[in-house]
Amino acid sequence: MLGEGILKGLGETAKNFAASFVSKDRLTTIQYPEERAPVIENTRDFPFLVYDGEDKMAGLRCVACQICEKECPPKCIYIVKSTDKKPDYVGKPQIYPARFDIDISVCMSCQICVEVCPFEAIKMDTEFELSTTDRFGGLLYDRDQLARSNQHYHKIHPTEAAEVDARLAEEKAKSEAKAKAAAEAAALKAAAAAAAPKPTPAPAPAPVSVKEPTA
Ligand code: SF4
Ligand code: SF4
Repeated sequence: MLGEGILKGLGETAKNFAASFVSKDRLTTIQYPEERAPVIENTRDFPFLVYDGEDKMAGLRCVACQICEKECPPKCIYIVKSTDKKPDYVGKPQIYPARFDIDISVCMSCQICVEVCPFEAIKMDTEFELSTTDRFGGLLYDRDQLARSNQHYHKIHPTEAAEVDARLAEEKAKSEAKAKAAAEAAALKAAAAAAAPKPTPAPAPAPVSVKEPTA
């Protein structure tokens, strides 16, 4: 019948409207901002930089490789590499971002930066109340504003963060085992070199006596 779908939809709306006076479950809207609907785990809006531990700068996972900057479709990431190095999560000295900006007025939440990052250093946040009266400067987030703890990552995306932690722990264990094996091999080589018999020095040539010419 023509318009059947519309009538069914209107019927459902009417049922919810009438039932909402007796059952809260029938309410399809909430009184925002006093009430808030729970944010589902797969929600994403704008990226943030993950850091481990308590110190933002020391724990920043980003190594300023600039892959995300190159791959970002609207080019809203701006990175300046440091001139010195700091240890990364496996203790390897790495360059870090002296500057890392994202213009979230341009970001389209595509998540490509997250997909291409080899260091699990950038993830998508769920924070959506970001309105500001400063259209330009207010929406240009710098490294300090973008840095969020791993605990925050666990809070908003618990399943994904647990997988990432397990992967990083495995990589760290592999890297430590490799470093230990290399150190042991070097120690064995040094011990073998110390135990090897030293070559006996060649005997010194016998002194040659030169006769004084007789006059
Ligand atoms: S989410 Fe997309 S648009 Fe936004 S910074 Fe990442 S790559 Fe760029
Ligand atoms: S966030 Fe990831 S991809 Fe982007 S610069 Fe840092 S380490 Fe590289």
